[in-house]
Amino acid sequence: AGYANEPPLQRFLAGCYGDFKSDYSGTVADYIPELKRANPAHFGIGLVTIDGHVYEVGDSAMPFTIQSVSKAFVFALALDLVGEERVAAAIGVEPSGEAFNSIRLTNDNRPFNPMVNAGAIACSGLIHQVDGAHAFERIREKLSQFAGRELDVDDAVHASEALTGNRNRAIAWLLRNYLVLQDDVDAVLDTYFRQCAILVTARDLAVMAATLANRGVNPVTGVSVISPNIVARTLSVMTSSGMYDYAGEWIYRVGIPAKSGVGGGIVAALPSQMGLGTFSPCLDSHGNSVRGLKVCEALSSRFDLHMLNRS
Ligand code: GLU
Repeated sequence: AGYANEPPLQRFLAGCYGDFKSDYSGTVADYIPELKRANPAHFGIGLVTIDGHVYEVGDSAMPFTIQSVSKAFVFALALDLVGEERVAAAIGVEPSGEAFNSIRLTNDNRPFNPMVNAGAIACSGLIHQVDGAHAFERIREKLSQFAGRELDVDDAVHASEALTGNRNRAIAWLLRNYLVLQDDVDAVLDTYFRQCAILVTARDLAVMAATLANRGVNPVTGVSVISPNIVARTLSVMTSSGMYDYAGEWIYRVGIPAKSGVGGGIVAALPSQMGLGTFSPCLDSHGNSVRGLKVCEALSSRFDLHMLNRS
């Protein structure tokens, strides 16, 4: 009952949920010990249109850690706080063609882009240069504005990554060597680990994406979160580098700027249309959520949403 009366988008999302929930392919991330505890059955989808309609199915209210999805929003914050020039001096915008945790830098010793760990740690460093010990709080506040509610941190995941994140520690010290990082390296790393452990839901990610799609104004709260100019730059790096080593395939097949994280989240923002947030912890070999990817593919093809196919 009621099913026939549901709006087409709700029906479509319910269909995706039904079609993909039995797909248990992929594996949960295990390099951060605490993430191994994720439940492979969890699957949630949120979609928010730029006029503020919210659609949700499945475990859309289930909290999980944002991980690398944070990188897009922290990049936007860094641009806002220190400006384009200082960001460009520290971080490139070229796809790296390497893994997200690669220690390789560009020929002039900058991280390739803000979507890989090196670039994201450099962004956290820029925010530290402005805010010092208040840097994490600034990040949490900005991400909360994007989501339209107060976001918290998963302390267990934060502690787990802080304990085991030696590769990120090595990256940060390399950046310190080249003066991309200028502050206390341990404090910057702690901010980065904490930012990765911020708890969100698929619905939150959908609102965050919709804020990008809506030129920086949160369509649910009406709050202006970031300037349209910064949104365009953020969507640009999401387009070129947001989906790990799958970025080229992604933009070819799906054509929607997106960012994924090893916690199982994906944000996808289609300018002037909608934001999508998905959560499902099993990841493919690239590190992208298997079910999340399927939802994005299905949405793009069903409604003809490839961004280069607009009329
Ligand atoms: N906290 C994770 C790391 O820095 C994020 C990785 C990801 O989601 O890609 O390794």
